[in-house]
Amino acid sequence: MSGKLRVLPLGGLGEIGKNMTVIEYAGKIVVVDTGLRFPAPDQLGIDLVLPDFAYLRERAADIEAIVLTHGHEDHVGALPYVLREIEDWPPIYGGPLTIAMVRSKLDEHKLKDVPLEAVHPGEEIDAGPFTIEPIKLAHSIPDMFAYAITCELGTTLVTGDYKFDQTPVDRIPADVARLAELGRDGVLLLFGDSTNADRPGWSISESAVGPQLEQTFARCRGRIVVTCFASNIHRVQQVVDAAATLGRKVVLVGRSMRKNANIGRQLGHIAVPDGILVEPKRIEDFPDEKLVIVSTGSQGEPLSALRRMAGSEHPHVDLRKGDTVIFSATPIPGNERAVNETVDRLFRLGAEVITAKDAPIHASGHGYAEELKLMLNLVKPRYVMPAHGDHRRIRLHMALAEAVGIAPEALFAGENGLPLEIDAKGARFGKPERAGLIFVDGVNVGDIENVALRDRRMLSADGIFIVVATVSEQDGSSVSEPEIIFRGVPAPGDDSVVRDLRDEVEASLDRAAKDDVREIDALQSRLHDDLAAFVYRRLKRRPMVLPVVVEV
Ligand SMILES: [Zn+2]
Ligand SMILES: [Zn+2]
Repeated sequence: MSGKLRVLPLGGLGEIGKNMTVIEYAGKIVVVDTGLRFPAPDQLGIDLVLPDFAYLRERAADIEAIVLTHGHEDHVGALPYVLREIEDWPPIYGGPLTIAMVRSKLDEHKLKDVPLEAVHPGEEIDAGPFTIEPIKLAHSIPDMFAYAITCELGTTLVTGDYKFDQTPVDRIPADVARLAELGRDGVLLLFGDSTNADRPGWSISESAVGPQLEQTFARCRGRIVVTCFASNIHRVQQVVDAAATLGRKVVLVGRSMRKNANIGRQLGHIAVPDGILVEPKRIEDFPDEKLVIVSTGSQGEPLSALRRMAGSEHPHVDLRKGDTVIFSATPIPGNERAVNETVDRLFRLGAEVITAKDAPIHASGHGYAEELKLMLNLVKPRYVMPAHGDHRRIRLHMALAEAVGIAPEALFAGENGLPLEIDAKGARFGKPERAGLIFVDGVNVGDIENVALRDRRMLSADGIFIVVATVSEQDGSSVSEPEIIFRGVPAPGDDSVVRDLRDEVEASLDRAAKDDVREIDALQSRLHDDLAAFVYRRLKRRPMVLPVVVEV
């Protein structure tokens, strides 16, 4: 066994989101997950953030398979963008729900005939030098699979997102027996979820949420709006069950809520009693105390149904005093502000708001510290590379591994772009590969130097100066006083700045004329540099400077 196994995370380490990992052996590649991240508030006007997958583009011919752990956006959201950039699509595997959700997403992106294949736990996938086995784990979406990816050197277990729920809503708990078997046979590397490494103890079971929802519903007099992740199909099931028990009808609002509920029903993940579902447009036909509305928008997403309700802009749901809005989800880090804003608008409309802080109406889909220890003890990995977490959680995951007796030399705190290389002699980090971010702005995909983003950031922070200079066609001299327009420039101060800027324009044009610079483009670029330097000297700011040179 002279080969070398490489495990290269392209996303998901040092952050929570955009998970993508390349597993490489004998020149062949298996990709686990192709996720995205939603933009941070300072990434203005950007719709999505993808991992930089240049590495995959270059190695496209070597990709034997893409395997998807589950249907969350941070694991599948970048797939359309990856497929657009590689020819000869490799087969793509995932659980039945994952594949159904991905198919619907690819349809929206007009990507047809993608080789998608639903797999089930226990089945084996052949992928070049690898065999891949899906293993059932529990998470906040059905059909969540870890993958045991085996080559000559041994088995890498990529956990995906998981918890050890003893009483999952679908009664299919994590396959602990299979994990233990893998551990007995020997696992080379555990590449495991670190999301809740900072929470001590055990996560609560998803099944514990149902009775809490029911108790909370029972105290409500008017209409109830429950918001949760549309993909949390078991949560939606529990809302439906609680509504049924209390004799309330259920209304599903929000495009993704309706879509996922449909897919979930087709695949048998959600059972809805006959006659309980009501179309959104018929809401006003039912008394307030007979309705539960299940809505998207638990993260304060700008275009979501709940956000529209909060702004009194929803076509069917007009929130008012007496209504109760229940957040059966917690904000993902970064979404707190949008959620708080939504909550406050709801209060303004007179609604009551109950969040997971007020009642135990949410269960995390990620295992807590004791569950991560259980995973470590079950699979007894030779090496551990914590995944899916910021640097702090990765370190905490390593501490948990040490606590269960794994030697510190066997623990690797990875980073995006840093490959872990394992051969017969041992494991070590290799040379870094390209990794980073790609921004998606509407339908365009660009890299981090994306001009539009830079422009927006400059405009939002420091404003803009527009300078219109009129020059003579003959000798390039300034023929009339330059016009200066500014917007959003913090404290441009008194008129003297504008006056001095005019002088600077004239001076710059004079210098250009002396140097015989006549091309409009060249003039504008010189003006830009001179004025930007001047403005920075005067204001200690870098507003956008937009010179326009007109020849007469
Ligand atoms: Zn997930
Ligand atoms: Zn995730």
